[in-house]
Amino acid sequence: MIPRRRIPLEWADLADALRALGGSADAAAQVAAFERAFSAEVGVPHAIATASGRDALGLILDGMGLGAGDELVIPAYTLGELVPLVQARGIVPVPADVDPDTFNMTADSVAARIGPRTRAIFVVHLLGAPCDIRGICALADARGIPVIEDCAHAFGARIDGRPAGSFGRAALFSLEATKAVAAFGGGILATADDGLAAAVRARVAGRARREWPAVRKMLLKCVEEFAVRSPAYAIAARLMFSPRSAGGFDRLYRQAHDRVRSRAAAFSGFQARLGLRRLARSAARQQRLNAQWETLARSLPSRFRVQRRSECGEPAFYNFVARFDGDIAALRAAAQRRGLDLGIGGEVMDDTAAMLGFADCPGAAAAAAQAVLIPLYDGLSERRLRRTVDILHRLAEELE
Ligand SMILES: *Cc1c(COP(=O)(O)O)cnc(C)c1O
Repeated sequence: MIPRRRIPLEWADLADALRALGGSADAAAQVAAFERAFSAEVGVPHAIATASGRDALGLILDGMGLGAGDELVIPAYTLGELVPLVQARGIVPVPADVDPDTFNMTADSVAARIGPRTRAIFVVHLLGAPCDIRGICALADARGIPVIEDCAHAFGARIDGRPAGSFGRAALFSLEATKAVAAFGGGILATADDGLAAAVRARVAGRARREWPAVRKMLLKCVEEFAVRSPAYAIAARLMFSPRSAGGFDRLYRQAHDRVRSRAAAFSGFQARLGLRRLARSAARQQRLNAQWETLARSLPSRFRVQRRSECGEPAFYNFVARFDGDIAALRAAAQRRGLDLGIGGEVMDDTAAMLGFADCPGAAAAAAQAVLIPLYDGLSERRLRRTVDILHRLAEELE
């Protein structure tokens, strides 16, 4: 089975885990060093390590004073779990449609959703492809509305040479195991706003720092990774991702992760050391991923419409997602029988407009109905990449 994703694990991670369990006298210094390195990468004065990307978003919303009755423009196609996080604060999320070719919102779709109660605009650079952040910031500035950038997928992406995350009032990054700078959880809040940074620092300062939770998560991921690479996984995956049980399994997986995330603990020394190592290698990793992405984009059959990404800046390819003009559930089932694990539906992203009862976001509806996640990650071999392309060519013909 060619799995959908692969957790980046190194022997050095284990050594760090042991060191963390042996005591963490220098944890605070390590976290500070990681924050400085991260802020240098993004090109903003403040980078604050948080419990997760979502935690960073919550801290930004609270720090900017958004509350009950305020409207927040959000992407109509993004991670659905961000919606309840916004609603829990009484904030009203208003989805702006996406261009189904880029999966990103546009300045026009954002402008159409701004009203007298709009207090902020939340934009995402989906799957590492920069959105038209300049256009969106221009219209937001003209109205005095702050922009929040979701860079969970976009570490390393640039717009006219300037890093994603340095355009809005504040940005969030995710350090989840599947994201670019993987530290087994955690997030970064980046901002050039001194007042916001001070308010957020004051809130995270009181949190307890414990080394064990992230270490435990890494060990669990090791088990998961081992299972995914074993031959038995092909059978298990067929059961878990069958049309009948896929939704349930996806929910279970998300809930398990939510439980880990819900405790807003301080970022640990272990995570900081991992993060520092990943940062040092991120440019080389990104180059390898980009090359693989280009290969896949060139070789797919024409029934796959590849994400259009070059228009607004340099992407940092995060995942490979294309739209398939056909039955994606049938495609996924057939691919699985041939040993290729594709993602569809909520395993890619969610139609937040539909979640919120808006029927006027056709771009998000098209994206949700057609998006297929094709395996692409650092460490995917040439042979497996070619095999992926071969399987998809055969299936595109078979599933006429
Ligand atoms: C992963 C992700 C986040 C949040 O990251 P966590 O660290 O998992 O909380 C935010 N937005 C998008 C689009 C994501 O994919």
